[in-house]
Amino acid sequence: MDILKTPITYLKGVGEEKANLLKKELEIFVYEDLITTFPFRYIDRTKFYKTTEVSATVTEVQIIGKITNKRWVAQKRGKRLVATLSDDKGSVDLVWFKAGQWIYDAINIGAPYVVFGKVNIFNGRANIPHPELELAESFKKRKAIAFQAVYPSTEKLVKKSFTQQKHRSIVRALLKELSIPIPETLSAPLCDALNLLSRKEALTQVHFPENQALLSKALFRLKFEEFFFVQLELVLKNKIQKQKIKGHNFDIVGDNFNTFYNNYLPFDLTNAQKKVVKEIRRDIKSGSQMNRLLQGDVGSGKTVVAILSILIAIDNGFQATIVAPTEILAKQHEQSFQNLLKEMPINIALLTGSTKVAARRKIDEGLADGSLQILIGTHAVLEEKIQFKNLGMAIIDEQHRFGVAQRAALWKKNNPPPHILVMTATPIPRTLAMNLYGDLDISVIDELPPGRKEIITKHFRDSHRLKVFHFIKEEIANGRQVYIVYPLIAESEKMDYKDLMDGYESVVRSFPMPQYQVSIVHGQMKHQEKEYEMQRFVKGETQIMVATTVIEVGVNVPNASVMIIESAERFGLSQLHQLRGRVGRGNEQSFCVLMSGNKLSNEAKKRLQTMVETNDGFKIAETDLLLRGPGDLMGTKQSGIMDFKIANIVQDGDILEQARYFAQKIVADDPTLQKPENSNISLAYQKATKGKELWKHIS
Ligand code: ADP
Ligand code: MG
Repeated sequence: MDILKTPITYLKGVGEEKANLLKKELEIFVYEDLITTFPFRYIDRTKFYKTTEVSATVTEVQIIGKITNKRWVAQKRGKRLVATLSDDKGSVDLVWFKAGQWIYDAINIGAPYVVFGKVNIFNGRANIPHPELELAESFKKRKAIAFQAVYPSTEKLVKKSFTQQKHRSIVRALLKELSIPIPETLSAPLCDALNLLSRKEALTQVHFPENQALLSKALFRLKFEEFFFVQLELVLKNKIQKQKIKGHNFDIVGDNFNTFYNNYLPFDLTNAQKKVVKEIRRDIKSGSQMNRLLQGDVGSGKTVVAILSILIAIDNGFQATIVAPTEILAKQHEQSFQNLLKEMPINIALLTGSTKVAARRKIDEGLADGSLQILIGTHAVLEEKIQFKNLGMAIIDEQHRFGVAQRAALWKKNNPPPHILVMTATPIPRTLAMNLYGDLDISVIDELPPGRKEIITKHFRDSHRLKVFHFIKEEIANGRQVYIVYPLIAESEKMDYKDLMDGYESVVRSFPMPQYQVSIVHGQMKHQEKEYEMQRFVKGETQIMVATTVIEVGVNVPNASVMIIESAERFGLSQLHQLRGRVGRGNEQSFCVLMSGNKLSNEAKKRLQTMVETNDGFKIAETDLLLRGPGDLMGTKQSGIMDFKIANIVQDGDILEQARYFAQKIVADDPTLQKPENSNISLAYQKATKGKELWKHIS
């Protein structure tokens, strides 16, 4: 019987009623839950105040003094107990509103006490209600606690007098008085390598830290451990997947790749692009199926990596597909593929929801007999009836709009499944990516093509609109084009739509024909109308494009160098960054102007400020994560991926990296965890994963 699984009722000082309360309020059922309910902050118990320092500016105080007086004071209902605590500087009142006689009796007049409590201001005078009182003598005798744990609590717990003091005392009973055995979960070599505290010591120190250094060590150990077992699971799953899933072996790098690379590639690859192409090539000739995530900021040049990967598939006699989240983006890809590969004998087709029946039939035939080598499209590609002769490479662009189901659909299109490359322009902080996509290998393009100028970003209040319009006129006079984007959070929202139309009218008034031509694109327009307006802008017939976020992905007009974002405070950071990425695609200096109202929430201010300060998508994603919390990002809330008890995926990224490193190292050295030195790890891992499917999202 595992003593840690003992129901909490059996613990001295808990009892049935408190046990029920702890279950309901804090989900503490057994001993183990109690010791892994961690403090969320600590009170510094090394600091002592003088009675005269007790004021509204401090929240908690600890004082050494003598009680010089105790008395009952009548109040509306019943009476309160007031005691005066005096030190060499002065005195302060301690107050109990609902004191039993036993408290009165216990207070020892004239004896030195250590008093600890929250400061309360009443009628302009500070007092300390319901303080913790301990004789100075006994305080000194006990092993010093530098920091006092503060545990999560709820209104119910407070009401039922389950105080912090009580919480601490039952944890103390368990860890110190009972001194229950707590097995080690990590291996000796690992503990040595990282100079870790034992699990038992770490748990003791985290609840009752003796000093800052030990507390830090305890926190490190526990966070590391928490990350380590998650990473271990991911690494093991990844390994099993690789062993089980055979992949096409693309060992030929042939005519198509070489011809394109040597003759038609319009630029030199950046080092980051080269590195990623190498990583992909290594994967696809390994005999296992590739599952790789490619992260790269907007404009970092992911498309050419996709083309090169596809050409290798074709060189090996296979077909390839690329799936994009919107029709506009799919079309854009198709055009750039056609364009870049126009001198080469390669068949490319576009498949979207609006592909006509005749064209579709042709596509089906081409796919079936293998003559169609590259299929570019939207979700339509994922439909079961779309069958390839031999699909060898499947690329998903803009991952954040696709889920695991889409990946799974692509898997089914061939046996063995095609190599899969997922490309995302939403840079996910590495720490998060490691947890979200632990089953994918990760590549990063962390470098923009040379000569790219930083986009200059400015924030203006609506009151400065004239200035902004003036600037737009200058840029247009220089031959540039301009986007003006309005938020349309839900396309049906009447208010947003009205804002957009009002905005459009005011733009048209300020930029009159025939000198200026203005396009407008929004979700309520028919497909053909949209397309027509878009093309006018692409061809340079209009200088201004007023639009909703429809243009967020896909539009590529290198001559457009100004992005005005209206009501920018209403957009999220990643969306702002995506929008900004529509400019800065040509050689001209580009600008992004964030327009906002005058009143801004702190968070909105921080978002706009971040945009002004940096162009770095990873930094922006990091800030986004800090502002919103990981739970909000990409629907991870339901996934449970972020349910860490003590570690914080945002702040403890470096610990996570170490945990991953060691998990990989240990699995590489001992894949089945059978070496005696890994027995602790193996046992703990089995316990942790037994019965619960932690990583359901892995297909
Ligand atoms: P994204 O990563 O956002 O998909 P793209 O692949 O659309 O980026 O590339 C953005 C632009 O940069 C394109 O016009 C592309 O031709 C260009 N580009 C890509 N790689 C390079 C490079 N190594 N040198 C110069 N220009 C490049
Ligand atoms: Mg792209």
